[in-house]
Amino acid sequence: MVSAELTSEYKRVRLSNVNHQDILSLTQKGIDIDHVWDDNAIIYIRSNSLSILDTMNISYTVLRKPDVRNKEGYHSYTEIGETLTSIATSYPNICKLYTIGKSYEGRNLWFMKISDNVEIEEDEPEVKYISTMHGDEPVGTELCLNFIHYLVNNYESDPRVTDLVNEMEIWVMPLMNPDGYVHQQRYNMQGIDLNRGFPDRVKDNINTTEGRAIEIQHLMNWAFKHSSVLSANFHTGATVVNYPYDSDFDYYKDYSATPDEELMKTIALSYASLNKSMNESSYFPSGITNGVEWYTAYGGMQDWNYIWLGCNEMTIELNDVKWPSFSEIPSLWNENREAMLTYISWALRGIRGVVTDAETGMPINAIVRVLGIDHDIYTDPDVGDYHRLLLPGVYSVSISADGYLTKIMTDITVDEGHATRHDIQLFPQSFTDIRNAIIILKLISNFQINEPIQKLDITNDGKIGIPDLIDFMRLIAFDPHS
Ligand SMILES: [Zn+2]
Repeated sequence: MVSAELTSEYKRVRLSNVNHQDILSLTQKGIDIDHVWDDNAIIYIRSNSLSILDTMNISYTVLRKPDVRNKEGYHSYTEIGETLTSIATSYPNICKLYTIGKSYEGRNLWFMKISDNVEIEEDEPEVKYISTMHGDEPVGTELCLNFIHYLVNNYESDPRVTDLVNEMEIWVMPLMNPDGYVHQQRYNMQGIDLNRGFPDRVKDNINTTEGRAIEIQHLMNWAFKHSSVLSANFHTGATVVNYPYDSDFDYYKDYSATPDEELMKTIALSYASLNKSMNESSYFPSGITNGVEWYTAYGGMQDWNYIWLGCNEMTIELNDVKWPSFSEIPSLWNENREAMLTYISWALRGIRGVVTDAETGMPINAIVRVLGIDHDIYTDPDVGDYHRLLLPGVYSVSISADGYLTKIMTDITVDEGHATRHDIQLFPQSFTDIRNAIIILKLISNFQINEPIQKLDITNDGKIGIPDLIDFMRLIAFDPHS
């Protein structure tokens, strides 16, 4: 475990005249890249590692510690808790406030759920917004609070807000790194960068919580029990929507596309096009970037979401200045409100349905795979619902689960509107044994039937099982042709 004192050794350093390879080499050496623009970069580096820069002949300036940021106007940690509690109390039908764990210094990690029938889990896509995993990037915290206010204030008066709240389960965590926020620092109080500490596919591909920052552990444990399909984490330091991947097996790649590249770009664009500063960005075309295209980062939360949870997550950088004066928050909220609403609405597109056991009707923990897109998503085992975000087109989809026969659906049409619904019943694997027995009996008895599989429900009780087999044996025993 890293002691808290070590965090004080971190220097914030500006590099100039660096190229893509320099940045990559620094990342390989474990240096924390904050952001990159033109041939400049801001990095975080321990003072005893500054010699690395000298060795690489990189010119740099150690930035003075930022002045104590102007907290005026920003909600304090305590006020954030009071605000969330008060909203949850005022709108108990659509808001429920969870504390999913405590930070290293014992502060609450609040997660607000906003949905109709908020007490129960329904056949609805789960989406999440998480902000300020870097404690010195507080804009998203304020925007998340505004977002929650906006949803509850407009529920049942604004049809779009009403639909979003009724049709999905919206989770908002305004402050993932409360200790960092209180101490106005990037890291948590174990000295860990929370956006470099998740499992990824390249350097740390073991999807367990062991040995990770305490805040990451709580978030991972929460995510394992939920099935979010779309999410974003908010930062400052740039103004751009960054979509996966943030790292690649090939160190020398300068772009790393996911199998859902077109979908990712389209969703990223739908956010950025509604945000004036992103849309008019002179540095990022259309206000979006692929993670690796910008700079490689290992252990980021967005890649973990996509790779390990099947959830489309992006990293949204809200403002070039990390901690702007609070007087800028209203215009930042104006710039992002529409984008935040539109972004989550993507969770309602593509194909959706509920996967159940054909015999018992119970929900199944199943894998949903679109043929031709090498990326699985999963049902939520509590309800059995799946939500596969897709662009308009015609798809083939396979649904599989341990102990069940795989089902393949072809010619599934997805259009611009709400998701196409396909509820799926899977037959248990044991069903094949019965079917095989019947086929063998057919061969032995030369019994001629050409009925579809469903017709094997001879006892007509809606299920196929041993009683059907027994009935079938009786049937052929009395069949005049056998
Ligand atoms: Zn950040």
